[in-house]
Amino acid sequence: MTDLTSKSCSSCFKDIDARALRCPFCTQRQADVVGLYRDVPGRALGGVCAAFAQHFNWDVTLMRIAFIASLAITGGLVLWVYVAAWLMTPGPPHGKAPLAKLFDALGNLFSPKQGAVQRVS
Ligand SMILES: [Zn+2]
Repeated sequence: MTDLTSKSCSSCFKDIDARALRCPFCTQRQADVVGLYRDVPGRALGGVCAAFAQHFNWDVTLMRIAFIASLAITGGLVLWVYVAAWLMTPGPPHGKAPLAKLFDALGNLFSPKQGAVQRVS
């Protein structure tokens, strides 16, 4: 059975917090760390606030309050940042971001055969 609250550092093998991005002892970035993703528990709309909150270990409520406050202050400009962040953040942990999927789809439209190796001349 796996302990969900701690793991051993992938470099120095000391016990560290399971969600730690870096080891507090040797400061190595952990091998099992995945990037930002939106399929996290507690997502409300696009999951961007929840994703950032989980990734940086922030409080999701404070994150949303800060987001809504900055929406009001900037007159909605931050909404475009939200949309951009949504486009560039994959849903599942090892999935592809919507923007990456779009580029893949566009690339397949113009390439003669799927999986063909592109020649660089
Ligand atoms: Zn370590």
